[in-house]
Amino acid sequence: MSEATHTTPISQLGEFALIDHITQKFSLQNSSSTHGVGDDAAVITPTTGKQLVVTTDLMAEGIHFDLMYTPLKHLGYKAVVVNISDIYAMNAEPKQITVSLALSSKFTVEAVEELYEGIRLACKNYKVDLVGGDTTSSYSGLVVSITAIGEVAPEELVYRSGAQVGDLICVTGDLGAAYLGLQILEREKRIYLEHPDVQPELEKSQYLIERQLKPEARKDVIRFLKDNDLKPTAMLDVSDGLSSDVMHICKMSKVGCVITEATVPVSEPAYQTALEFNIDPITCALSGGEDYELLFTIRPEDETKLNGEDTFSVIGEITDTLQGTRLLTKGGNYHQLTAQGWKHF
Ligand code: ADP
Ligand code: MG
Repeated sequence: MSEATHTTPISQLGEFALIDHITQKFSLQNSSSTHGVGDDAAVITPTTGKQLVVTTDLMAEGIHFDLMYTPLKHLGYKAVVVNISDIYAMNAEPKQITVSLALSSKFTVEAVEELYEGIRLACKNYKVDLVGGDTTSSYSGLVVSITAIGEVAPEELVYRSGAQVGDLICVTGDLGAAYLGLQILEREKRIYLEHPDVQPELEKSQYLIERQLKPEARKDVIRFLKDNDLKPTAMLDVSDGLSSDVMHICKMSKVGCVITEATVPVSEPAYQTALEFNIDPITCALSGGEDYELLFTIRPEDETKLNGEDTFSVIGEITDTLQGTRLLTKGGNYHQLTAQGWKHF
């Protein structure tokens, strides 16, 4: 097949040959992956004494991504990462994924190869095995649905429901950058559509765009928690925005919270860009989403186990449910948090 043309129609290979062609580049890395692609179902042999955790995320073209500014390799990578992030958020280790695709006729064999290059890179970086999937055609665009399977010792599991009054609320990394990356990409798309000859100005926004197009899951943080014998009381990954996500913990744990605005981590590029877009930077952190950082609660006596590592920010405290879910602003006022989440509908 010619790499230069990038135009081999899928019909020329057929579905079976396409999957064979693509999956032969994958090899199994985990001993629990007993049998991968090629039979009616994959076979997994979990480590004795461990439980399986399973999660799925579906991404649809035009809803979750825009191929005008999303390279297929990045899309494949991100589609894996968002699932792996959910496995880590249970304090579990990801081991296998399955990938299901609906493809419209505009996608060539080369396009699918590019998508799987990203999937393969994520599998390598996070040491997970591709063990199956499904492929079908679609009338409109691309749909990618990935299921991830992980394993965990039952006593290591961390649910959303374990937060207790007095616990500290912690978050990793910084928030709001992925949302601002998306705003930049959307702005450059509009400019491009109106003036195709104008070169996009993306360099100075590199960090934000990377956070949108190529997020990473916090494998390092899960390792750190284990190494430091620190088990959060509740945890989730920040996919909808701090506000909705902390409210998920509060609802499931039947508690309230107060988040201190001044301690919420926002990177310098995010801060500057928010102002450029006339958005309050804290709004990007609260309602932006797609950060894939870990939000967790710990007993106050465990704070020393964070070792002063600068990837962790203590941003608030769990209160009783009567206090509601509140934000203490830099000006010293309390506001009720609102869950906006993502409005896909
Ligand atoms: P079935 O007809 O039983 O659904 P398929 O022909 O769809 O079987 O799949 C054959 C094998 O290829 C299975 O192991 C399946 O998991 C795998 N497979 C199918 N589509 C994909 C895909 N998009 N990515 C990875 N593996 C796939
Ligand atoms: Mg099938």
